[in-house]
Amino acid sequence: MTSESSARSQVEALLRPDLRGQVAYGAPQLAVPIALNTNENSYPVPDVVVQSITAAVREVAPTLNRYPDREFTELRERLAEYLSRSGTPITADQVWAGNGSNEVLLHLLQAFGGPGRIALGFTPAYSMHPIITRTTGTTWVDGMRGLAGAEPFDLTAESARAQVLEHRPDVVFLCSPNNPTGTALGLDVVEAVYDAAPGTLIVVDEAYAEFARPGTPFALTLLEGRPRLVVTRTMSKAFALAGARLGYLAADPAVTDALRLVRMPYHLATQTQAVALAALAHTDLMLATVGVIKDQRDRIVETLPRLGLQPVASDANFVLFGHLPDASATWRELLDRGVLLRDVGIPHYLRVTAGTPEETTGFLDALADVVHDKISSTTGSQHE
Ligand SMILES: *Cc1c(COP(=O)(O)O)cnc(C)c1O
Repeated sequence: MTSESSARSQVEALLRPDLRGQVAYGAPQLAVPIALNTNENSYPVPDVVVQSITAAVREVAPTLNRYPDREFTELRERLAEYLSRSGTPITADQVWAGNGSNEVLLHLLQAFGGPGRIALGFTPAYSMHPIITRTTGTTWVDGMRGLAGAEPFDLTAESARAQVLEHRPDVVFLCSPNNPTGTALGLDVVEAVYDAAPGTLIVVDEAYAEFARPGTPFALTLLEGRPRLVVTRTMSKAFALAGARLGYLAADPAVTDALRLVRMPYHLATQTQAVALAALAHTDLMLATVGVIKDQRDRIVETLPRLGLQPVASDANFVLFGHLPDASATWRELLDRGVLLRDVGIPHYLRVTAGTPEETTGFLDALADVVHDKISSTTGSQHE
């Protein structure tokens, strides 16, 4: 038996040089009473839907000797109908799906990125964008938010355009509403980037679209006449189906055709298609908790300033908040009280998912407790 360190160094030597020393995605999965760290929907799948899902899986189980519908035709049709509800007609040939929108993003980079090509994102944004980019040998370039700096983490059309012109990327990632900051982009940013980069694929990650505040614009409305624009969505967040792994995108049919070149045949399992279809048949019920979650998000944004903290405005189901003297210490102290948040690596900031009213109360109480401890320990015995 080789020693562990010898095995590690032997494998390290085999690894693609561009992957050596990279850090894997690692949001902690801990069993805690209040898990508010990965922006899941806290509400379990409703009983009626559980029954439909169970029946659907029961129905397809005998056919598992056969490969699934490689074209997931019915699922593309239902997803197109769902997207069309927003008022922008989307057809089934514009829709692509995968095992989570992460796989959809992987397909995009396999087809449009690759060695010698560049993907640009505007940091801080979704941590998986650079990770997926690098797995395909594509070079990642960290663009910046907040350059023109009205609000912290803002991205203006002017700044995005200048950075695109500077880096000349093959793929640009925009994220709206942006994870981890929470705010949605103006469509002027998407248009500016699209027009500034005539040889570039523009990907707008709209994973949190359903949580946006009223009047928030969606890049879906810009697809018509823009064949280089892609909008990705997911059933993992508002749709409360993170465990089923179903993400999708809408784009020109020429884009979805290109993705057929890189996906593995039969990538969407029969049971995955069945589960997603069963959930989509109950769309209104599956989305019924979105209103409650948005209320909790707004409650967090309103309450945090009273604790001396600075929340960033949010169109998503989470809130990034700053002004913490030591974010990782606060993260730890909250975990000690059974509340798990996400330390996204921005100094003095943490991100919290808006959960049920009870979870939100648990979080706010624990945070008040932690912040109060901090204040009394820094002001010493005067108050004692
Ligand atoms: C959570 C999240 C996703 C979802 O990924 P899935 O693979 O669909 O679960 C995509 N993009 C962003 C920005 C996210 O925060």
